[in-house]
Amino acid sequence: AALPLAGAAEQKIQVVTTVTMVTDLVRQVGGERVEVRGLMGPGVDPHLYKAAASDVAKLQQAEVIFYSGLLLEGKMQDLFTRLARTKKQVYAVTEGIAPEKLLEPPGMNGHYDPHVWFDVTLWSACVDTVVKGLGEFDPAGKADYERRGQEYKEQLRKLHEWALARAAELPREKRILVTSHDAFNYFARAYGFEVVGLQGVSTVSEASLADMASLVDFLKQRKVKAIFVETSVNPEALQRVAQDAGVKIGGEIFSDAMGAPGEVREGFDVGTYDGMMRYNMSTIVRAMK
Ligand code: ZN
Repeated sequence: AALPLAGAAEQKIQVVTTVTMVTDLVRQVGGERVEVRGLMGPGVDPHLYKAAASDVAKLQQAEVIFYSGLLLEGKMQDLFTRLARTKKQVYAVTEGIAPEKLLEPPGMNGHYDPHVWFDVTLWSACVDTVVKGLGEFDPAGKADYERRGQEYKEQLRKLHEWALARAAELPREKRILVTSHDAFNYFARAYGFEVVGLQGVSTVSEASLADMASLVDFLKQRKVKAIFVETSVNPEALQRVAQDAGVKIGGEIFSDAMGAPGEVREGFDVGTYDGMMRYNMSTIVRAMK
């Protein structure tokens, strides 16, 4: 008797990812050959995320795992290390970035800042790790992954140029980005902004009253027009700062999670990395003008 036909989904490479940015990256490179399941959806803070039992099961069943790395998923790192020891293919997409391009902000105890996707050129450097990882598991698709990876890098090159031009619409002295947590250091370096986060690079420690008071002083002193809440961080503390300093909330921007698949804001598909970056930059430039 003929064996029952397997469903199309079962023939695809089963990939599990963490944050939405990595999920999108693997989909861009993998195309039709891969089935990608992201553990963290829109609005989820990766610094605080702990793997549920169901996540562990998904990771164990995955054929290839991609996560962001540099301790972005701080509470999951031990799990990835253990999974990698079982000979499973586990990749931090950021491993392909040259260390000299990484930032090491004060107070990080020698750890790198993980928010690399806010410099499009660094995120583009993560494409090759995905191409390599998928190609090693699925040699028949290697040429396809390489071609798709090249095409995506070309798209990212255009995105970076667009972002530079959009940022240049603001005079230097107006390029001050104030947000809930310090996720925008790479953005600052790439696009010429000064950034201030109420909380540190991780959201694990909350802002103190002293942090809030000093940010209020900064906003008044520098006559900052607007500050920005983030979709994956509780906005309360920053809203209080805005009120105390008499500045407006310029909008909600994406930091450590993108929008839902197909979600459109201001004409941009914020469920993709490309659209999320364009939405953020447009929102910031419009509010600060
Ligand atoms: Zn963060």
